[in-house]
Formats: sequence, structure tokens, C-alpha cells
Amino acid sequence: MKRFLISSFTFLAFSNILSAQITDPKATETWQPEVRVVTPGEGTKPPSDAIVLFDGSNFSEWQSAKDSSKVTWTLNSDGSATVRPTAGDIVTKKSFGDCQLHIEFREPVVVKGESQGRGNSGIFLQTRYEVQVLDCYQNRTYSNGQTASIYKQSIPLVNACRKPGEWQTYDILYTAPRFNSDSILVAPGRVTVIHNGVVAQLNTEIKGPTEYIGLPKYVAHGKSGIKLQDHGDLVSFRNIWIREL
Ligand code: MG
Repeated sequence: MKRFLISSFTFLAFSNILSAQITDPKATETWQPEVRVVTPGEGTKPPSDAIVLFDGSNFSEWQSAKDSSKVTWTLNSDGSATVRPTAGDIVTKKSFGDCQLHIEFREPVVVKGESQGRGNSGIFLQTRYEVQVLDCYQNRTYSNGQTASIYKQSIPLVNACRKPGEWQTYDILYTAPRFNSDSILVAPGRVTVIHNGVVAQLNTEIKGPTEYIGLPKYVAHGKSGIKLQDHGDLVSFRNIWIREL
């Protein structure tokens, strides 16, 4: 205890001396590195340094997740794309780690099915970690599987769903998991999801790949694509852009 008192006293005295020595406000200004300029987009248009993954004109940034073949989802005249059931999941050709992802989605106007059967799709970060896309407007399902959940891992803070047929937004901030050279997990992935401007996941720890059956378990991996799910429902997407962090 005596030693603790002495060391605490010493520390306090030392910090007081340090603080006392700083009298110039400039001494605590940091000027380097200079922060690079990014021009923000108007509305939901991408900022100047974003990689545009889908602007409505083509699927050039995407391929089939199953066999890397050409995407056969439906390209609509309004600048959106719609899942073509049985065509399968699609994935970006480019690989990503830490990122900011903006994506807009629209649930089918013709409401059919219930629970997980209504407007199901999903956004898989690094092809493994699903931010659920589902029509949860007046549609109950298991809480850790609803819109903006980290599928079967994390219940969203709120249900901010708009009505079917209305465009909705996800802004996703993602920190990829870290593995050491022995493929051991040293830091789990983390994700913040803003759904229609409302925080639904805040720095949520990802527990491993989002599994339909069973518990998640990390397996080491590097950068990987963003995958969109074909769950058999006519969910549409538009205005998809990403910024690597
Ligand atoms: Mg899904």
C-alpha cells in the first residue's frame, strides 16, 4: 500500500509538472499529416473517393458467387436491379476489408410470405458476415434474424423498416476481423449499421460467419467480396458504393 501511495503521488506530481510546463496552445496542435480532401456526394450520391459498385447501368463490378459467371439478375429501367430467383447470389469482383458501404434496397410491393419468407435477401461482408435484408414492416420473425440483424448473432437496436415498395438505405461501417500469421483470431470483426438514418447496430462484435444452422466459428481469411443474397424473393437494390478504410 505504501508503495502504491508513493507511486500514485509520484505520477500525479509528474503529470502536474508536465501540464504546468505547457503554456503555449500551439504545443498541442498536430498539423501532419494533412487530411485529404473528399468531396461529399449530393444526397445519397457517392463521395469523390468511393468505388461505385452499382449505378444502375450494368453489373460490371459483379459476378455469380457460385461460379464467377455473368450476373443474370434483372436490370431495371429505373436504375435498380432485382434478384432473379434461382439465379443465385452475386458477389463483387473486387475484394474488400475495412470499409464504409452504402446500399439501397426495396422490398417487393406485392407482399407475400411471412417471417423469414418475406422479402429476404442479405448483404454479406467479406462474403461471410450477413447483415440481414428482410421485410419486417409489420412482419414478426425471430429478433436476431430481422432486418438489420447480424444474422442469428445480434438483434438490431430498432426496427426502422419502411413500407414495402419504398426505398431504404443501409450505411454500414465495417472493421474486418484480424488474424495473426498462425491464423489465430486476434480481433473479431465489428460492424455499425445505420438503417434509414437510424442506428441499428453500434460497433457490434461479429462472432464468426453467420450460420443458418449451428454456432459461428471464425476461420482465417483475407480480403473478400461483398455478396448479395438470392433468397428467392424479388428484392431490389440500387446506388451501391463503397469506401475502403
Ligand atoms: Mg437473408
